[in-house]
Amino acid sequence: MTNSISRSYLIPVFLLMLLLWGCSTSEEFSGYSYDPEGVTETSDKETNPHYTRAIGVNDGKIWVSNDFSGARMNDFYQVNDSLYRVTIKPERDAINNSPWYAFQIWSVAPDTINLQLDYEHGDHRYIPKLSKNSRHWQRIDSTNYSADTTRGTATLTLNLERKPLWVSAQELFTWDNYNTWTDSLASKSFVLRDTVGFSHNNRPILKLHISEANPDQPRGVMIITGRLHPPEVTGAIGAKVFINQLTSDTELARDFRNHFEVLAYPFANPDGVQQGHWRYNARGVDLNRDWEHFNQPEPRAIRNDLLPLKDDSLRKVFYGIDFHSTDENIFYPINREEETFPDDFTYQWIDSLTQEFPDYPIEVEPFPPNSPITKNWIFHTFGADAVTYEISDTAPRDSMKTVTRESARIIMQQLLDEINN
Ligand SMILES: [Zn+2]
Repeated sequence: MTNSISRSYLIPVFLLMLLLWGCSTSEEFSGYSYDPEGVTETSDKETNPHYTRAIGVNDGKIWVSNDFSGARMNDFYQVNDSLYRVTIKPERDAINNSPWYAFQIWSVAPDTINLQLDYEHGDHRYIPKLSKNSRHWQRIDSTNYSADTTRGTATLTLNLERKPLWVSAQELFTWDNYNTWTDSLASKSFVLRDTVGFSHNNRPILKLHISEANPDQPRGVMIITGRLHPPEVTGAIGAKVFINQLTSDTELARDFRNHFEVLAYPFANPDGVQQGHWRYNARGVDLNRDWEHFNQPEPRAIRNDLLPLKDDSLRKVFYGIDFHSTDENIFYPINREEETFPDDFTYQWIDSLTQEFPDYPIEVEPFPPNSPITKNWIFHTFGADAVTYEISDTAPRDSMKTVTRESARIIMQQLLDEINN
């Protein structure tokens, strides 16, 4: 008796669980755990002002400025004889915790001060990088830096002089860097630099077209996107190293370029980067959540440039890579159950990579392709395999570059193997 009761009770529970499980997998995507509410509603949003200015305190002895590209610093105070404070605010209050900051600081006479970084709508995250010329950067010495995880602040000890010191969440990598880099690439006969559209604030959306394939012959296509999120500098450096490898003068790279076309959009959120944003574009929208409705001009320009590939009988999309940064090295492939072309491509190259660098920490977390992000749009539009390639914010730059270069080499080899099959 007891048994039959519990069994008859269990069957509906099991059916209910099946039903709930079914619902949750087909449910409308509303954001990842770290996203603020409403992130997939990508119409224009009101943003907070960020006034460009230099501020002097302590009778004009200590100064800060945010008057340069990529800067973010909202206010500056003297707390007591040796403690100063900058406040840093995001471009919009509802935001995830990527609290970017960048400012210059100097003193009229040589001085050593303590400087507190104080955030609104966020907690301290990025270890400060220092520079005397905005080109060569060094991570702050750990003896001059402490983070207060309870209060979400950090305190730096800085030696100041009349010449400004740059203090930034990551090394600055802005339009000037992209311009110099892509300009030098464009001097190669097989690289074409182009503009596929403009941001809200009329900045160009850059495109690199890389190929030596015969335009009358069938060829594969690889799509690369980068810098949808402004503070993600390690991802930006990774994209640069990766693309440089594709354009290098090795036999493999030449062979690859003879059979493939690379369409790369490495600077997808120029307004966000130039304005020192934590996450969004100039209209307060997360550009990696707009690949379904395309309300924003930046993803729309990239999509419009790629869509003709759908009806192109000579060009077939094989792979897509979207470069980002987070707090670890992690690859987000498309769920293995989904059939992609080529199938399991990402898993194969990650296997090769981890075999080569067994001590380099790499995580892999497959995702269902139901969110409106770049990688999923590539998969849904072309059926191709695609990956979100996340590089740790704290990755040692040298080893990170070595591993990324090797990623490019493995991917070129694997793509050539696919096309020859
Ligand atoms: Zn990102």
